[in-house]
Order: sequence, then structure tokens, then C-alpha cells
Amino acid sequence: MIVIRNLLLACTLALSACAPSMTLPARTARADACGAAVGQGGVPVLAWHGFAEHPGPQDGNLTESWARYDETLRFLADQGFRSIFPEDARSPGAGGGRQVILTFDDGRKEQLRAAEMLERHGFRGIFFIIPRRTRPDADAQFLNSDDVERLARAGHRVSAHGYEHRSLPTTGTEVAGSLVRSPDAIARHGGDDRLDFAFPFGHYTPEIADAIGGAYRHLHTVNPGYWDGRSPLLPRMLIMSDVDLSIFREYLLGGASYAPVLRPLTADGAVAGTATFVGQAPLPGDAQVFAVSADAEGRSYLTHPLGENLRVSGDTVTVDLAAHMGRYHGPGRGVISYAIVSRQCGGMRYLSPGIMHWIRDPALPLRPVPTPVRPDTLVPAS
Ligand SMILES: [Zn+2]
Repeated sequence: MIVIRNLLLACTLALSACAPSMTLPARTARADACGAAVGQGGVPVLAWHGFAEHPGPQDGNLTESWARYDETLRFLADQGFRSIFPEDARSPGAGGGRQVILTFDDGRKEQLRAAEMLERHGFRGIFFIIPRRTRPDADAQFLNSDDVERLARAGHRVSAHGYEHRSLPTTGTEVAGSLVRSPDAIARHGGDDRLDFAFPFGHYTPEIADAIGGAYRHLHTVNPGYWDGRSPLLPRMLIMSDVDLSIFREYLLGGASYAPVLRPLTADGAVAGTATFVGQAPLPGDAQVFAVSADAEGRSYLTHPLGENLRVSGDTVTVDLAAHMGRYHGPGRGVISYAIVSRQCGGMRYLSPGIMHWIRDPALPLRPVPTPVRPDTLVPAS
């Protein structure tokens, strides 16, 4: 099997159309014309933040217009999607139509209206609030305690988004608050205190995922991709107002044919200049990085070719992330949330799960300033 797999990898990387005439590994025995296995499937997960009638540049690209939000909900309803919570996920083959998980971050006040619009379609969402900011006398731009209780009563899920909304890998205080204070605060508001958690900024390390995963069942990231229904880490597609809705529609409809052929060996969330994967089936020849992390021109959800930054040795696939980031994302970028994809057969095919890697240690300052040391300032050791 391994020999066949190696041959296939070598073959398909060199000549992408040669796979169909060969014997595929059993796991991918059902394959479409593009060599993509079918039948595994994944659940799409969407994540919204703020809303406004006419978002402008001052609102940032995480503020969606109400019109586009309404259009997306209508699309979901028209396409037969049913909103679920993670523990309800089933394989697509089990029947019951299409599933989607709908999430909302930061506990912004206007999400009450977003919830009402969900309810008109029979949808329910997970609202990730910032416990420290949700009080009876909350700042007017955030949901207060009454608002949160109203969401819970209507059948939505209220869950924690950190404690104060700080990047967990950079502060132990935020980790402690998320583990100790947030569950109590969520339970006080009638929320589900131990089920779901969303990392502020989508930031985590393997150690933080382990620690937070000991207190919460489902950990929500901002890595682009589908959820396999089993992993504790859930990818989510951030809805951005400067990204065409067709990207998200294609993503929503593609869940049934999701079948990643790259299994990550480098831990999700690790500091990694290079990331390695096991290739489990033929790779198309046009592997690209699809990143939510903005590139050097500030654009998200673009694909950039891997080219010589992807190497194959036997069934091990190595991606030189540092070189890729240096080329397309510019200096100073230290983290990337991405999936490896192909567009060879039209549309987007996800070759890997959604994953996040740091190019340098997140606990270090983002731009360390070198301090010159002059010999005449040194104090001799006593
Ligand atoms: Zn947030």
C-alpha cells in the first residue's frame, strides 16, 4: 500500500492527470474524475462579528452589512441547510439534509437583531460572548446580561470567547480567566458553560488547546475549512465584508465532497517554519495555500501557489511555511490560519484540514527591537 501511495504521489505531483489508471488505496477507492474521494464529508461553520447597514472602511472588514447577512440566510434556507450545534453533527450520508454551524463572536449588541433574523428561518446560532464585558451595566455596544439570557431562552447557545478577549498564547491571565471565570459567568447567564469555546483572534498553541480542551468540548478557531465532526478543534469561515459571497456559497455547498488527503504531522498551533503532512492519496499538481490571514496587500481568502515551497519525499509532504509567508505575506507576519487547496478541477478542493501555525514564538514581542550593546556600558560581573 505504501509503495502504491508513494508512486501515486510522485506521479500526480509530476503529471496531475495520471492517477485514474492506477489502483487507488482502499480508503480512496471511490473517486471522482478529479481523483477526489467522496463520502467522508465535513460540516461548514460560519463566523460573523459586527453588523451595520452600510459598513465603511472605519468599521473594518469584520462588519457585515445586514443586506448580505439576509442574503446568506436566504441562501442557506433555499439550499435546505439546517443549523446544528456541534454535538448534533452527523456524516452527510446519514440523511436529513445539509448541516451548518452558525456562530457569532464578540457579543456585540446588534447580534440580537442577527438572532431574530436567524429565528425567522428556524436557525439557531452559537453566540461567543466576552464574559468580562457582559454585565448588567454593559457598555452599550455589547450585549448585557438580559440580552444574553434572551438569546439562551430563544434556543441559541451562549458560550465563552476567552474572558477579556486577549490572545491566549501571550497571557496566562487570559488562560486562567477562560478556565476559571468564564464557565461561571456563562452559566450565570443561562449559557452552556462547558460545551463550546472560541479562541480570541483564533490564537492558540497545542498546549493551550490541550488546557482549554480540558474544560470545553469544542474549540472554535478561524482556520478555513470543514469540520470532520470529531476533532476538538473546529475550523470556521470568518465572514468578511470585502470578500465576495460566492466564496462562502461555494464553501457551504462543498461540505459533502470534503475528503482531505493531507494529514498534518506538525501539531496544529505549533511554532513551525516548515509543516509536514502524510499524503494519503494522490495530490494534484497545483497545491496552493488558502489563508484567512491577510497577505502583504491586506487581502484575505486568497490562494497563493506553493510551487517550490512544497516538497514530497515518499508519502511525506513538507511545506516551507516561512518561505511562503516571506514571499506572499511580507515581513513581520508571524501567524497563518490556512488550508492547502487545489483549484485544478474548478472550484475549491480542500486537500488539508484548516490549520494554524506560528512562524515564530507567539509569546515573543511581534517585532523584537534589537538592542545594541556597547562594550563601555557593560558592568563587570562581581
Ligand atoms: Zn473576537
